Amino acid sequence: HRTTTAANTADIQATDASHHMHPFTNTGALNRKGARVIERAEGVYLWDSEGNKIIDGMAGLWCVNMGYGRKELVEAAHQQMQTLPYYNTFFQTTHTPAAELAKEIASVTPGDLNHIFFANSGSEAVDTVIRLVRQYWNIKGKPYKNILIGRENAYHGSTIGGTSLGGMSGMHKQGGPLVPNIERIRQPYWYGEAGDMSEEEFGLACAQALEEKILAVGPDNVAAFVGEPIQGAGGVIVPPANYWQEIKRICDKYDVLIAADEVICGFGRTGNWFGCQSFDFQPDLMSMAKGLSSGYLPIAAVAVGDRIANAFIEHDEDFNHGFTYSGHPVAAAVAIENIRLMKEENIVDYVANDIGPYFQTKLREMLSEHPLVGHIEGMGLVAGIALVKDKATKTLFPDDLDIGLICRDHCFENGLIMRAVGSRMVLSPPLVISHAEVDEVLEKARHCFDLTL
Ligand code: PLP
Repeated sequence: HRTTTAANTADIQATDASHHMHPFTNTGALNRKGARVIERAEGVYLWDSEGNKIIDGMAGLWCVNMGYGRKELVEAAHQQMQTLPYYNTFFQTTHTPAAELAKEIASVTPGDLNHIFFANSGSEAVDTVIRLVRQYWNIKGKPYKNILIGRENAYHGSTIGGTSLGGMSGMHKQGGPLVPNIERIRQPYWYGEAGDMSEEEFGLACAQALEEKILAVGPDNVAAFVGEPIQGAGGVIVPPANYWQEIKRICDKYDVLIAADEVICGFGRTGNWFGCQSFDFQPDLMSMAKGLSSGYLPIAAVAVGDRIANAFIEHDEDFNHGFTYSGHPVAAAVAIENIRLMKEENIVDYVANDIGPYFQTKLREMLSEHPLVGHIEGMGLVAGIALVKDKATKTLFPDDLDIGLICRDHCFENGLIMRAVGSRMVLSPPLVISHAEVDEVLEKARHCFDLTL
C-alpha cells in the first residue's frame, strides 16, 4: 500500500478544501478543520492517511454489505472491463450482464416483481418510480391519478424528485420549488411522537393518516404511497409491527400502488432479502441500490410487478425515461457477483439467525442502561439509538448543543464510525461483521457515549 505521510495529508486536505464541494456538508467549516483522508479498507475496517484504524459501523453509507476488499468483486469488474466496458441498453440492444442481473434480482425479490429497470443511484431509482407510476395510470386511462404520498422525515434521495417525495425539511428549504402533486403524512416514530399511545394504537393511527390523506385529496387522484420499510436516513425509525399491514389494506381498498424504497433495507439488512418481507407486505414496485453492488460501483434498480410492467408491454407503450448508464455492464457484473457471494455465504440467513439477533441483544445489554440512552430500536443489522437529557421524561438536549454530532466526533476520534441523525445515533455495519467485531463496535460506542456525557 501507498502510505500517506502527515505532510501529504495536509496537502490532500488543502487540495480538497480548494476544489472539492462535499455533499450534505458545511464546506466552510470543513475547510477550516480539514477533511479526514480515508485511504484504504479491508473487511469491516478503514485506515486513514495517518495510519489510524477505524471500525466502520455504517458500512460506508449503509452499502458495503459484503465488506471491503472482496477480490471476487474486483475480479468481476476487471473481467467485464476487458470484455465490454460500456454499451447502452437503449434502442434495441442489451448485453449479458444487464440481462443476467435482471434475472438475478427477480430471483430474490418477493412476489411478481419480475421486471427490472436500471439506474445508477437510489435517487434516480426513486425518480424512476415517480415517473413510472404516473405513466402507469396514464396508460390505464386515469391521468388525474398522479399524486404520490410520502412521509415526513423520509429520505428518498437528492434529485429534485427524491427531495420532493422525501420529508427532510432542511432539503425542502433549499433549491427552489419542489415537484408538484406530492403529499406527505406523519412518520410512525413511536418513541418520539406517540405520547401515551401503545405501539399498536400508534401504528394504526399513523397508517390511518394515509386513509385520511387519500380521502382528503380524493382516492381517484392518488397514484402511489412510497415508504422505506424502516426509515434509514431519518434515524432508523422501525414502525410498529401492525403499521405496514394497515397501509397495505388501505392501499388495496383505494387502488393505490405501494412502492417500497428498499435502498437501505434491501439486500439483507433487516434479515430478509428485502425489508418488505420483514414486515410481510408485498409492494407493487420497489427501488434498490447500495447493497445491490455492496457499493463497489454505482448501480440501482426498480423492480416492477407484473401488473405495471404488463400495462406497458400490452399497450406497446414507450417509457420515455432512462440513463446513459442504465444497466452499465461493469456495475452489473459486480452486482451479479455480489448476489452470488451473498447466496454462497448464506448472508441473509446469517443476519436473520445469527449476527442480527446477537447484535440487537448485545446492543441493548450494553447501552440501554446508559444515562444518555432513551430508547433503542432496530432489526437485523440496523439500529437507531435516541440520546436524551432525561430518560424518565424523554427530554431531549437543546438543538444548538448538537449532542449527536458531539457523540459522532468522539466516535470518529476513537476509531469508530457511527452516524448522527439529529439526536439519534445510527449503526448499520457490514453484514459480514463477526461477533468479535460487533463487540468491538459496541464497546467503542459505550466508551464514546461516556465521553459525550
Ligand atoms: N432512498 C433511500 C431510502 C435512501 O436511503 C437513499 C440514500 O441513502 C436514497 C434513496 C438515495 O440514494 P442515492 O444516494 O444512491 O441517490
